[in-house]
Amino acid sequence: MNIALFGPPGAGKGTQAKELSNHYKIPHISTGDILRANVRDGTELGLKAKKYMDKGELVPDEVLIGLIRNRLTEPDCGQGYLLDGYPRTIPQADALSDILQDIKKPLDAVINIEVSDEELVKRLSGRRSCSCGESYHIMFNPPDKEGICDSCGAELYQRDDDREDVIRQRLAVYNEKTKPLIDYYDNAGLLVNVDGSGTVEAVFEDICRIMDQFK
Ligand code: ADP
Ligand code: ADP
Ligand code: ZN
Repeated sequence: MNIALFGPPGAGKGTQAKELSNHYKIPHISTGDILRANVRDGTELGLKAKKYMDKGELVPDEVLIGLIRNRLTEPDCGQGYLLDGYPRTIPQADALSDILQDIKKPLDAVINIEVSDEELVKRLSGRRSCSCGESYHIMFNPPDKEGICDSCGAELYQRDDDREDVIRQRLAVYNEKTKPLIDYYDNAGLLVNVDGSGTVEAVFEDICRIMDQFK
């Protein structure tokens, strides 16, 4: 199953991808998680990416295209993959289709999770993250023990880019650079829209109904 989860920051891509990856046994590939791991480890890539991420800007396309090509050619993608946060620009989408043609794993669907801007701001401003990739919400999806990750026990943190001014900037960047991909994938016959405003469980069920068609 070859799927891309699409949607604005805060739509619930990471939350859904974690569950879907367990359910369908395909790797969850989050470019945001990969970049943040590089920032934490202080790699050359991390140092370069951090400047953009802190401002709510996109990291340059050539960096992301190299990164995603390497990741998709790893052996665990043999049975498929679940992309989260890539592609975010038209050049990234064009590069992706070349890569997928090379490795003979074309996309089955691009699942677009739709949530209103007002709700996105609420979700992002209450988000608490874990370095393991898990994310929580102080009101909508709290961990069992305040401030601690249910799945790995580490301390949760608020991402530097989950502050009101950076959130606004990320949404503006989404509207300008990423949203045009909705038409791009609709024209390619790959786009499926999902209402992302329901509970985590309700959205999960809707996405499973779509993904089951590609099993
Ligand atoms: P969210 O899920 O909240 O939208 P991500 O974790 O996907 O955030 O991304 C965080 C940041 O990492 C982005 O604001 C951007 O700076 C960078 N990033 C992640 N994926 C990409 C990408 N495909 N292209 C460019 N920058 C990216
Ligand atoms: P994205 O990866 O698209 O940026 P996340 O999965 O990190 O989004 O979710 C953003 C925030 O919204 C997190 O705090 C998460 O716990 C919360 N969240 C995710 N899905 C829902 C939902 N269906 N209802 C309410 N809150 C949600
Ligand atoms: Zn954790």
